[in-house]
Amino acid sequence: MTRVTDVQTDASVTVVGAGFGGLSAAAYLADAGADVTVVEKNDQLGGRASRLEAEGFRFDMGPSWYLMPDVFERFFGHFGREPADYYDLERLDPHYRIFFKGEGERATDGGVDAGDGNGAVGGSDSGFENRRPLDGGGEVVDVAADRATNRELFESIEPGAGEAFDDYLATSERHYGTAMEKFVYEDRSRLRDWVDLDVMTAAPVGLKLTRSMQGHVSKYFENPKLQQIMQYTLVFLGGSPRNTPALYNMMSHVDFNLGVYYPVANSPATGAPAEAGSSDRPGGIGVVVDAVVDLAERLGVDFETGSAVDEITRRKEGFSVVTEDGTERRPDRVVVNADYAHAEQELMPEHERQYDADYWDDRTYAPSAYLLYLGVEGDVPELAHHTLVLPDDWDPHFEKIFDEPAWPDEPAYYLCVPSKTDDTVAPEGHSNLFVLVPVAPDLEDSPAQREHFRERILDDVAENTGTDLRDRIVFEEEFCVSEFGERYNATEGTALGLAHTLRQTAILRPPNRSKAVDGLYFTGSFTTPGIGVPMCLISGQHTADALLRDERER
Ligand SMILES: Cc1cc2nc3c(=O)[nH]c(=O)nc-3n(C[C@H](O)[C@H](O)[C@H](O)COP(=O)(O)OP(=O)(O)OC[C@H]3O[C@@H](n4cnc5c(N)ncnc54)[C@H](O)[C@@H]3O)c2cc1C
Repeated sequence: MTRVTDVQTDASVTVVGAGFGGLSAAAYLADAGADVTVVEKNDQLGGRASRLEAEGFRFDMGPSWYLMPDVFERFFGHFGREPADYYDLERLDPHYRIFFKGEGERATDGGVDAGDGNGAVGGSDSGFENRRPLDGGGEVVDVAADRATNRELFESIEPGAGEAFDDYLATSERHYGTAMEKFVYEDRSRLRDWVDLDVMTAAPVGLKLTRSMQGHVSKYFENPKLQQIMQYTLVFLGGSPRNTPALYNMMSHVDFNLGVYYPVANSPATGAPAEAGSSDRPGGIGVVVDAVVDLAERLGVDFETGSAVDEITRRKEGFSVVTEDGTERRPDRVVVNADYAHAEQELMPEHERQYDADYWDDRTYAPSAYLLYLGVEGDVPELAHHTLVLPDDWDPHFEKIFDEPAWPDEPAYYLCVPSKTDDTVAPEGHSNLFVLVPVAPDLEDSPAQREHFRERILDDVAENTGTDLRDRIVFEEEFCVSEFGERYNATEGTALGLAHTLRQTAILRPPNRSKAVDGLYFTGSFTTPGIGVPMCLISGQHTADALLRDERER
């Protein structure tokens, strides 16, 4: 397949939206000689990876897990650079902590002896330091950076699971290698791309597209907690264990073998401004946004922020792109990074859409999220940098996301405390924390419903982790379905885009080259390869590839 390095162009390109997909496509295209302008509706760049700064706290509003470092190396490597030119990576240990909720009474007595919250959970009756029972039948475990420790953890929960863990990860690593090279980095957007000999020889991966993750994981582990550990990453893909293909078992290779990191700017110049009184090396995913923006600017990309596009129309030569203040641009080509459905249905005339409203109504959107950004007095020793709180049976929560949209009664959720690792994100003596609960896209989120859920979730955090936040909150902001719609034009308020369900994976996702309009392209989490920061960086490459290949053939 043609690679972006093979072609040069002097075409002018407008990129609509400055998420990771748009930024990546812009960098690749500018590197190939194109005259690129990125037009972004918000004042910040980074899209769903925006930052919220207030009262001395700085929050990554979206992504907080830096995964698949190999993808970032490959991205920067294309431009003769490396991530270390911009930021360093701290491997988190533990990678994350999980509170498995028990029945009945919880850990309200502070029954979790968690040290400083970043070490092991504190020893236990199980005789294994990364695992500890909670009052009321629950349990807290740390998934460590060290693989041997995790193997021991699995064996301690289910005899024989240590060996199954090795087998599972061997498969996961194999699938990761094959899938990344043959399906993720190679954009196989047409049926004929799948009929090559080399793809046929990767048939085991192909077969894994038809079985669900639940079916796959239960072949290895009986214990529901172990099944949950191997499946929680599906939330990153916007799916559930029952609607996500088994191929995504490769996420466990990402988790256990490649590691979980926190980026830290290697100089104040490449990161967000540091807060007063703290170290001058800010961290977080925002630092990665800054790095990609810096790279794109050096390649000549222009940015226009605070400028929402209202209209994209094909002209005889090129396009007309009109922003809400009435300004018209006339680029040769357009790359859309805004949500595909929003762009097609709201920015383009009907005859230039490749999908109709029924198509978009019929898609499975990834969850939205109820987010609570909190500035808190003091430390939260029970929590780690990343903490998951999971009910014994999480099926009802998934059903309330995908089957019968409603607020979850017994929520599974995620807590992020970057101040464990980074003292620039909160004023001295304070913690920076956000709570993320996946909820159904398009869920009604009236003030009364949100207020009710806020109480529910703060109770749940206190009951299950022993962390009572209520009297210590000094800063608070909510973000939910409505805000995803308002801030990002997110279709149905989805936080993540199109879910990676069985019928929305690989060739079954909308392609990055419009079939309806010559010269129009899409990039980001609605198209291939899919959801997540690494996938969107690769999506930008695919989109640039498609555009440049077409330029060569014109
Ligand atoms: C809460 C949350 C947590 C997440 N956690 C992780 C994580 O830990 N790790 C990870 O890898 N990924 C995570 N993700 C997913 C990841 O953030 C996304 O998949 C990725 O950032 C999406 O990039 P994108 O290219 O699709 O563009 P987006 O980020 O969707 O950006 C699209 C841009 O288009 C702009 N736009 C929309 N309409 C218009 C218009 N009309 N005119 C101009 N501009 C417009 C929007 O304002 C936005 O800036 C998370 C996402 C969320 C929301």
